[in-house]
Amino acid sequence: MVENRSQFLARNLAYPLLFRNYVTTELKTELEDSAHTLFLSNNITISYLDANFPFYNGCPLLPHLSHNDGKKIDISFMYLDKDKKSTTKKPSSSGYGVFVNSDQNKTNNNCVRKGYWQYDFSKYLTFGTINTLQLDKTSTSILMSKLLSMPSTKKIFIEPYLKESLGFSNEPKVRFHGCHAVRHDDHIHLEIK
Ligand SMILES: [Zn+2]
Repeated sequence: MVENRSQFLARNLAYPLLFRNYVTTELKTELEDSAHTLFLSNNITISYLDANFPFYNGCPLLPHLSHNDGKKIDISFMYLDKDKKSTTKKPSSSGYGVFVNSDQNKTNNNCVRKGYWQYDFSKYLTFGTINTLQLDKTSTSILMSKLLSMPSTKKIFIEPYLKESLGFSNEPKVRFHGCHAVRHDDHIHLEIK
């Protein structure tokens, strides 16, 4: 059966090794519970990306300036392979920098035009593009709904066009992060209270 498959994968071994996967006990517990439920009910495996350095509060994790208190974690979207089947693969080695739809992302264009050069920066951090995958909207929506249902979830950042197309237009906890951050159409940013 499914017991041997991991419910909760670090996207790239570099993350645990760089101690970027430190989060508070509360966030860890709630994420583990969510991962367990999602795996059993929808066969969804959560892939987490950058979290926080464990050293001390206030040490920011570039290029994620707000990841400094153990209350934030980045999580991959879900994808379909070329046969339209759900896959645990992600479109880049790092998990960052391959955007769902660059053309549609008017926010990004505006931010870059306004001079926020870092907005697009994660495109240089793919560490190689490995798959031609397509966003799995259904599974990504289920994943986001689960994250939103966690008791301590404060907010989730994704690009406005994805908020709409994934069906969260009326969800106040799903927000745009502004131009100071990196763009969020390659991953979900989760923050707890
Ligand atoms: Zn983030």
